[in-house]
Amino acid sequence: MNFNRAVIKVGSALVAPSKTGCSGQYTLAIAQFITKCQQQGKEVILVSSGGVAAGRTLIQHGSPTLSVSVKKAMASVGQMQMMANWQRFFDNPCSQILVTQEDLSDRKRFISIKDTIQIQLENGIIPIVNENDTVVTDDLTVGDNDNLAALVAQVCEADSLFILSDIDGVFTKDPKIHNDATLIPEITKITDEIYAMAGTSRNHLATGGMKTKIEAAEKATEHGINTYIINGTKSEVFAALLAQINPGTRFTADKDIITAKKHWLKHTIKSQGKITIDRGAVNALVTQGASLLPIGIKSVSDKFNAGDSVDLIDQDSKVLIAKGITQYSHSELKHIKGKHSNDIAMALGHKEGAVVVHRDDMVLLENNIATLSKAQTNQ
Ligand code: GLU
Repeated sequence: MNFNRAVIKVGSALVAPSKTGCSGQYTLAIAQFITKCQQQGKEVILVSSGGVAAGRTLIQHGSPTLSVSVKKAMASVGQMQMMANWQRFFDNPCSQILVTQEDLSDRKRFISIKDTIQIQLENGIIPIVNENDTVVTDDLTVGDNDNLAALVAQVCEADSLFILSDIDGVFTKDPKIHNDATLIPEITKITDEIYAMAGTSRNHLATGGMKTKIEAAEKATEHGINTYIINGTKSEVFAALLAQINPGTRFTADKDIITAKKHWLKHTIKSQGKITIDRGAVNALVTQGASLLPIGIKSVSDKFNAGDSVDLIDQDSKVLIAKGITQYSHSELKHIKGKHSNDIAMALGHKEGAVVVHRDDMVLLENNIATLSKAQTNQ
């Protein structure tokens, strides 16, 4: 379980265990571990939560249920405390990187974040990433940083992601209720059963610390990143890690690593519209790894521009087959759908290329395709 470049995600429970400001109780051992990793030539990027918890006592709040605005105010002042708390344990300088999910969905910003981190790592700096809570418009939901860490691991092209919290890993049953629950050391495939064992589900409405951790593991392993859930409250786990012993649950990286771009397409970027394609096009995409040509397009819906991400839908079954970047806008496609590529220039007065979605800019959704072929065989 050796690694060269890791993202270490540290939860609020470790940064501010008593919720009354930051503490060195657990962060000291984590920082020492990071320093030892650096001394061995490994690179580490920290994703640290704890802004809200650290700022809790600094903002007046009446009720125990905090409003989103109050949490944001806490996050912003707590961020300073949290950064200072980390920096005091490192001789090397730390940098603060605040990002939103939106930033990571934008290819240009994604590359900018990647370049910044790369240069900092080359200079021995410890990048510390957190969500930019002040500017996110959604609810400040606990657990976001697990998913954020998986995306950061992708941005940094890390080979490992360590999710540190106050739980030992994934158990066969809920260890709080069942005495015979045992820790699962290795998970090679994340299935619904794994979510169920962790007492959660893939259901969007389900909440809970374990759900977001397994989601993060799913995202990261798919990108070829080994992911570990580890109890960061136990200092002995760091000695184990340095001895290349897995002290928690390890999710093994997928063998077939999809490229950073395809992962970004599948998991991060939001589709702006839909292109419905005929069965001939579906087969060409799926069996020949072909690009999407205008001739296979039956209809387009929603407004999108060239360069936007779109969903490619099978006309007959309405199954989402792939996601990709379109070379043409929705209004252009209305003019060229069903036409030969040679006729594009004539129809539009200009031509961006023969293909609408190039295969390098496309990710096939294998699970959906499998469901579709199963349905076809049963027909
Ligand atoms: N960004 C939040 C904070 O620093 C934490 C979000 C999370 O724990 O996932 O407090």
